[in-house]
Amino acid sequence: MIDETGQRILRLIDVHKDQIIAFAEDIAAHPEPGYEEFRTAGKTAEVLKNLGYKVTEHLARTGVKGTKSIKEGPSLTVIGELDAIGCHSHPNANPVTGVAHACGHHAQMAAMIGCAIAMADPDVQKCLAGTVNFLAVPAEEYIDADKRARLKKEGIEFCCGKSEMIRTGVFDDTDIALTTHVHMVPVEEDFYLGNPACNGYSAERVTVRGKAAHGAIDPWNGVNALSITTSAIQMMGLMRETFREEDHVRLHNVIRKAGDVINSVPDEAIVETKVRAASLDKICEITDMVNRAYAGSAYAFGGKIEMEKLQGYMPIIPRAADNALIEAADDLGLNYRTVQKGDFNNACTDVGDLSHLVPVVNFTFKGFEGKLHGADFRITDPEKAYILPAKLLALTAYKLLKNGGQEAKKITKSYTPVFNKESYIQYVKNTIE
Ligand SMILES: [Zn+2]
Ligand SMILES: [Zn+2]
Repeated sequence: MIDETGQRILRLIDVHKDQIIAFAEDIAAHPEPGYEEFRTAGKTAEVLKNLGYKVTEHLARTGVKGTKSIKEGPSLTVIGELDAIGCHSHPNANPVTGVAHACGHHAQMAAMIGCAIAMADPDVQKCLAGTVNFLAVPAEEYIDADKRARLKKEGIEFCCGKSEMIRTGVFDDTDIALTTHVHMVPVEEDFYLGNPACNGYSAERVTVRGKAAHGAIDPWNGVNALSITTSAIQMMGLMRETFREEDHVRLHNVIRKAGDVINSVPDEAIVETKVRAASLDKICEITDMVNRAYAGSAYAFGGKIEMEKLQGYMPIIPRAADNALIEAADDLGLNYRTVQKGDFNNACTDVGDLSHLVPVVNFTFKGFEGKLHGADFRITDPEKAYILPAKLLALTAYKLLKNGGQEAKKITKSYTPVFNKESYIQYVKNTIE
């Protein structure tokens, strides 16, 4: 049964429905790439300031945090992702950057703002113990090697937003993170509660060195970097039969460069390679295989390989649906299912990294059509994609922090982190050195 404060929370979100939907649509109409979400961040900061939160901007370049410490108690951080995904063919793609909100991050931003509206109310705050943070995080989507190199010169050491925020201490005062996303695994129901296991990945930029020669006069004096590259990629293809289903291995390559002029033997090729798998050990094992394919191919042709390791994302540590989340979904009468053992998300997210440091209470939602990252992705039901997720976030936050933060404390007590900030930073640095 929903209590009086719970009802007040729902009313507050209903009263501000038009504002929340307008916020979502405005962000969808102005998509920005990772670490360049200046406009989206500015809008978010403005709304949070108007609601009376203490706002900090330019965290990990574009991140925004609104905070309200209410009473001694657990610190809860509600997360929204700022960035759009490269998808030139999407009808709402920015013509210059080619990014569009085809991963639905504008919907989670709207849900976060809706939740912030309800939590800003003094009568709601009276019933809470603890701190609420609303954190708009940059760069969830993959950042390519060239852009990473540029960002590094500007002080961004870790490639993805949450990771860079862990490194720079933004999550130091977070006890529990609350995250949302549109459905990433195929779920019939409107809501999917809990955090299913998901892949992590490793990435590397490989420069293949050959030797230039005239393509017709004396090709026998050249070493063909493109031949080395295609042979290595073919080997990876043949290795696929050794991948086990339960490891969820996915292997992708993009050839960024493969020679300069067609009448010469290509002497340089550049490939970006990504290995996804369900565990950190499996990622390392398959990455070794990939590297053997490059080395073996270079050996066969007499060329050389230069390898630049790039930071990956960690797999999510799965988490069943917490009581507060289930109760909130029941109060709302939602059509939902909970994460079951064996559920798996083949995509990757930097929420995986965060789940190694703090408990991540998560749900995903519907209200859209088309394929994630596809040109046909669009929100079709603002109620299900913006308003109900805002209500679910707010009711869950309320249930976690009411009664002296009892439910939140239960969650933090039963959670054992894999890393603290220092050991996390060290681990990431080891993977890229
Ligand atoms: Zn995405
Ligand atoms: Zn996404």
